[in-house]
Amino acid sequence: MPAAIVLIVAIGADLALAASRGETEAQFRAWLAGELWPRARDRGVSARRFNQAFAGVRLQWDLPDLVPPGTQPPAKRAQSQAEFRAPAAYFNEANLRAQAARGSQLAQRWAPVLGEIEARFGVPGRVVIAIWGRESAFGRAPSPHPAVRVLATKAFMSTRKALFTEELLAALEIIERGETAPAALKGSWAGAMGQPQFLPSSYLRYAVDFDRDGVKDIWNSVPDTLASIANYLASHGWQAGRDWGYEARIPQHVSCAQEGPDRARPIRQWVAQGINRISGRPFPDHEIDRDGMMLVPAGRHGPAFVVTPNFYVLKAYNNSDLYALYVGNLADRIAYGSAAFVAPWRPQAAMLRSDIARAQRVLEAAGHDVGGADGLPGYKTRRSIGAWQEAAGRDPTCFPDPALLKDIR
Ligand code: CA
Repeated sequence: MPAAIVLIVAIGADLALAASRGETEAQFRAWLAGELWPRARDRGVSARRFNQAFAGVRLQWDLPDLVPPGTQPPAKRAQSQAEFRAPAAYFNEANLRAQAARGSQLAQRWAPVLGEIEARFGVPGRVVIAIWGRESAFGRAPSPHPAVRVLATKAFMSTRKALFTEELLAALEIIERGETAPAALKGSWAGAMGQPQFLPSSYLRYAVDFDRDGVKDIWNSVPDTLASIANYLASHGWQAGRDWGYEARIPQHVSCAQEGPDRARPIRQWVAQGINRISGRPFPDHEIDRDGMMLVPAGRHGPAFVVTPNFYVLKAYNNSDLYALYVGNLADRIAYGSAAFVAPWRPQAAMLRSDIARAQRVLEAAGHDVGGADGLPGYKTRRSIGAWQEAAGRDPTCFPDPALLKDIR
């Protein structure tokens, strides 16, 4: 008897869910016609293409971060439960080795195309290949979802509707051009498309038809993919002839609290402070009088770098120090046969983002710029911690640890 009751309750819940999804699908169709269509028309999208794009498109219910109409956004996961992940986890040596081996083969195979790309965009092939590897495993990672369906679902009911509405309109502009059938616009569950993982707005701005077949095909064409990545970097300010950066050794007597793109100085001045390449080789002659920036992503607990402005161009592709370092290291392995960073990422005790955020607020109140109390130790937070430690007469580590977080109050 109890089992039967449970069964009835479960069926009832399913029916209620189905009914509400049906209603939501109807609201979605009304939103397409009433709100999206006028905006698409203003962008020059024809009714024919608009209807073609949405023929048979239903909401994709298995995407993350959905907020169906009439429901509340999921409460942000309490920061007190969220753990800050140490940088070491990002650099899986087995993955990097495998990607470097495959990347080297592909760099040879596509050497003539990469040479043309560097001549036109100023971006070296090793960097382009490394991003291709990181973004889509050199085109092997599937792009399983129709972008229109993903973007429409997120534009209609997600926590970031405005952003996804813009990207959906950009996708419709791509379809309007007639080069690409709506069903061929495939991407990730976040709407990033094809082998370079471009959002539609990036496709419109940066995609290149490098094999000159009349189609900017970032899904199937390797030359188009590689040139599109290079064009993206060039458009974000890649400086031809410069590398991304160099692993360095920062002596104990040199402050680690000098990080950041806003504290650039000629590399010669870093050397004058006592900072050198960890390899023992000198900085190249063509770099020594040009700007470099200190980068210590794990403070004194991990590798240190002098990076060039090109490092921040890599971050324009994906706004993460660790992403840019991964790509830079992979590029070096592909071109120079180099290995992992020399200095180890020393293991760190687990920290809660809420504790880091609390220390950030204390530092802010004391006049430090931590770049916002978000619980993540970016370069502004790291150098503020270093400055706080120096002022307190401690050995600066330029990185939070559980004991220090208790002391900053
Ligand atoms: Ca093409």
